[in-house]
Amino acid sequence: MRKPENVTPLLRHFHEGELISVLTTQPLDRALDYKAPEGGCFLGAFVEVPLGPRKVLGVVWGEGEGGYDLAKVRSVIRVLDAVPMRADMREFLTRAAAYTLTPMPAMLRLATRSPGLGDPPSMRKIYRRGSGEPDRMTDARRRVIETLADYGDLAFTLGELADMAGVSTSVIKGLVSQGVVAEEQSPRDTAYPRLEPGVSPYHLTDEQQSAADALTKNVSDRTYGTTLLKGVTGSGKTEVYLEAVGASLAAGRQALVLLPEIALTAEFLTRVEARFGARPAEWHSGVTMTERRRAWKMIAEGGAQLVVGARSALFLPFQDLGLIVVDEEHDTSYKQEDGVLYNARDMAVLRASLTGAQVVLASATPSLESWANAESGKYNRVTLTSRFGEAVMPKMSAIDMRLEQLPSNRWVSDTLARAVTERIENKEQSLLFLNRRGYAPVTICRACGHQIGCDNCDARLVEHRFLKRLVCHQCGETKPIPSTCPSCDAEDRLAPVGPGVERMAEEVAELFPDARVAVLSSDLFGSTRALKAEIEGIAEGAADIIIGTQIVAKGHNFPLLTLVGVIDADLGLQGSDLRAAERTFQLMRQVAGRAGRADKPGQALLQTYQPEHPVIKAILSGDEEEFWSAEAAERKAVGVPPYGRMAGIVLSSPDVGEVFDFGKALASRDEPLRKIGAQVFGPAAAPIARVRGRHRVRLLVKADKSAPLQAALATWVAQLKQPTNLRLSIDIDPQSFY
Ligand code: ADP
Ligand code: ZN
Repeated sequence: MRKPENVTPLLRHFHEGELISVLTTQPLDRALDYKAPEGGCFLGAFVEVPLGPRKVLGVVWGEGEGGYDLAKVRSVIRVLDAVPMRADMREFLTRAAAYTLTPMPAMLRLATRSPGLGDPPSMRKIYRRGSGEPDRMTDARRRVIETLADYGDLAFTLGELADMAGVSTSVIKGLVSQGVVAEEQSPRDTAYPRLEPGVSPYHLTDEQQSAADALTKNVSDRTYGTTLLKGVTGSGKTEVYLEAVGASLAAGRQALVLLPEIALTAEFLTRVEARFGARPAEWHSGVTMTERRRAWKMIAEGGAQLVVGARSALFLPFQDLGLIVVDEEHDTSYKQEDGVLYNARDMAVLRASLTGAQVVLASATPSLESWANAESGKYNRVTLTSRFGEAVMPKMSAIDMRLEQLPSNRWVSDTLARAVTERIENKEQSLLFLNRRGYAPVTICRACGHQIGCDNCDARLVEHRFLKRLVCHQCGETKPIPSTCPSCDAEDRLAPVGPGVERMAEEVAELFPDARVAVLSSDLFGSTRALKAEIEGIAEGAADIIIGTQIVAKGHNFPLLTLVGVIDADLGLQGSDLRAAERTFQLMRQVAGRAGRADKPGQALLQTYQPEHPVIKAILSGDEEEFWSAEAAERKAVGVPPYGRMAGIVLSSPDVGEVFDFGKALASRDEPLRKIGAQVFGPAAAPIARVRGRHRVRLLVKADKSAPLQAALATWVAQLKQPTNLRLSIDIDPQSFY
């Protein structure tokens, strides 16, 4: 049985037959009692327990409760071959569950997402030089023997050895039967190559060096702290936080770097490899099952020093985590929007505080939450003010679309077109940014005015001409583009309304017939690899004009890019989302930051119908502090996050009457909320009132920042029994309100 290394030697051990409490991954409302198995088990051990006729996964959570017929208590089936869950991890899951109002079993599922977690170590055959001599020497046999001699004591898989020696596998098998080559079993899950803390390949500027010093200072002494690392794109944030990663490695502690768009991080991994001498462990949806299993085990055993991952990497069983970096901390993808609703940025801070680690939140455009925490002194703040080398923030200006008088179905103004032409002549790149996938957001019938919608959702279908289909961006449902109107049967009268990136590509091809145009949109590439290849090609100059959605805003480096044209800067300002202004501000500045990274200055042009809008003005002036102060004051005045607390409650059901009735009943029983001074708003039909055939109703709860909101919410919803068809989800600190 495995003992956790490097944790308290006083780890509680339960001997055989002792009553223990086991938390399982099954949807039960509490942990269950079992008897410790033969040989006993440690607190935190991963175990298999009987549940009815099934065997399920669980973790030894503490002493059993008892108080019933002990003869009926069943025994743990077996203790799994995995390092027991550490106390800080159990505490983290418990606290995260309480914060997000998530049942513990669902929380535990997040922490056990490793295939074959309990399987015995998986083995594979490896081959090395044996003691025997061959009965007869051939060229092929000699090559095998020489190859093995070249590598001394190293062993290889059959495939590797055959490739290296240039022989068929049967030659090697023949040598095995004569004892010339030895065949052995070896575990498949091996430690990751060691990373060396090393030093930065660059001579850091004074500003970078003092930022790095501030971040590395506390990594080795096991104290918790969070630092907001703010700096424009290209100011060296990555270089600076890699110094902190180095310090964590040097202190013998593990580090985790969270990235928002993990599939596109080839560039980052290459940089890590160059800096630390080997590749780190990766954890995201693109990682194979075998590699996931290896990563999970090695992270628990200390065989992985650095993990680069998506938000779910926060739930990995780190042995001794010294540093968590949340890169692009403002990114909305850190908020998980289905299943367990958590914000990885906030959970990173929680985990670090329980384990004595440092957190670095890096961004050019921090979230207002982090900005406010830095203002109040809860987080440290480190700022990089200048771009590295010659690059400066691009010059930003608005194009007043009211003066441009564009014909219908045209979206590129003359002013913008002239700027693009200039870039083409100078052999520089332009980016036209439009945050809308597909060809056209709406398809309308010219005969009857009908707009084609999704059958299951309250949403219009988006034409994707490249796929030759209409797609629902809510539920993913697709259908072929019809030739007759589904409402009035008129033939060939359906027309696209409004632009998506695919339609922009058509307009651009007409305006600039000789330019090479690339469209970057997540849905246009069959695989992440294809998308990566396209991005690399563009970076090397394979396109003159790039038309892109949000994915271009995320940290890719296009050295030849000097112009960014935002097709519709007003897009994000519509709608009632409390973060609309903040999001638009961040997105526009991120996108603009793509221009002029290398030696040439950049320019950003924002097409807008409301150049006098305060958010547009703030974007153009570039005075971020002023924008944040104004935004903060506004939110403070109405008591919304980060100056107040909110919870979004979504009720959904196939039965529209039932879901409203239940919502009203909840709203009327608000004593538990009133007790803590919280208010409930609603029920109201959600902005997207139907998804996948379920009617959706929202309630919103607002409370003071210090109010014990979670406990009150739990009491509040527990008052009513939910109809079986109805689903209720509670989103603490909601980011989206659809
Ligand atoms: P950010 O993360 O803020 O966008 P990076 O750390 O990626 O910035 O740095 C931007 C570019 O400048 C990178 O290509 C990096 O290699 C380079 N760079 C940063 N600091 C230095 C330095 N001190 N000396 C030389 N190159 C640097
Ligand atoms: Zn739909």
